Amino acid sequence: MKGLKAVFLDRDGTIIHEKPGTYLSDPARVKPYQSAAAAFKLLQQCGFKFFIVSNQSGIGRGYFTEKEVNAVHARLLKLLKPAVIEEIVFCPHAPEQNCTCRKPQPKLGLKLIKKYRIDPSRSYMIGDKKADVEFGHALGFKSVLVTTANGKNHLKKYPDLKPEKVASNLLNAARFIAKDSGAAYEA
Ligand SMILES: [Mg+2]
Ligand SMILES: [Zn+2]
Repeated sequence: MKGLKAVFLDRDGTIIHEKPGTYLSDPARVKPYQSAAAAFKLLQQCGFKFFIVSNQSGIGRGYFTEKEVNAVHARLLKLLKPAVIEEIVFCPHAPEQNCTCRKPQPKLGLKLIKKYRIDPSRSYMIGDKKADVEFGHALGFKSVLVTTANGKNHLKKYPDLKPEKVASNLLNAARFIAKDSGAAYEA
């Protein structure tokens, strides 16, 4: 039996607007990018399941609580409907805590792969940072760097970074994945 086809997504600056240098903890401020709905629709038509993997160091830094993050996620899930996110996982630690779950470390992703029987060879990671691209590769996924939020900057700053695709936004990332995966779709 073939494993699940999955798209893992970063949250801030990939699905929702991010003001660089700020931390989001207010559910009322959650704002998906305009192209998000069409992106999820297209990928859903291709048979992908969605998971969000996020570094939320604001918890470890004491800026907000895990409870507030959960409230942000409840709001996000509502706004993304009818798209279904199977699960949202996050690292709550600050970088200096040297945890084992902060992207690009693969731990959170490996857990999801095992739990949902995901096939890495048919799966993709989308994010706006170097850590996202590396995280996808560590899992055996193909990685797409979106140039929203930090993406443009990271692309310039890390010339050795080799995402399978650079896309200007989430919808263009989805279009690449739809094509690359060979799934039949209408677009
Ligand atoms: Mg991000
Ligand atoms: Zn962690």
